This record gives sequence, structure tokens and C-alpha cells, in this order.
Amino acid sequence: MPWCEPCAKYLSPNALTKEGQCGECGFQCVEEKAKWRFLRKKFFGIPWHLWILIVVLGGYLIWRLIQLIVWLAT
Ligand SMILES: [Zn+2]
Repeated sequence: MPWCEPCAKYLSPNALTKEGQCGECGFQCVEEKAKWRFLRKKFFGIPWHLWILIVVLGGYLIWRLIQLIVWLAT
């Protein structure tokens, strides 16, 4: 699905020009790639070390859950 970054929305193939540009703003639409850049900008406005903390914490909780399951199963 083509994604227009300036308009911040998906475009139907009909809304694109033959060259694959946005019919509204003329932005050269790129599949997925531009969308991910946009999403990254949006969500990773949160400091990156906070994300590491979330990932580490999530990993720890999953690990404890596995331990609990193993403990209950034995
Ligand atoms: Zn556009």
C-alpha cells in the first residue's frame, strides 16, 4: 500500500500519478519504507534508552513467566 509522508495517509493506487507520486502533494510515494520512517519519527520521539528499558523489562517479565510455567509444570 503506497504511503504518503507529507499527507500522512495511505493512498489508493488510483490516487497516485503514473510516476507513483501523491495526487495531492506530489510526494514521491514509497511503499512501506516511508511509512516506517514516519512511524519511527512519531513513536520514537520517546528517548531510545527508554525503549531499551521497556524491551529489557518486557524480556525479564517473559522470562519470569517461562520460569513460572516450568515451575508449575514440574
Ligand atoms: Zn500527499
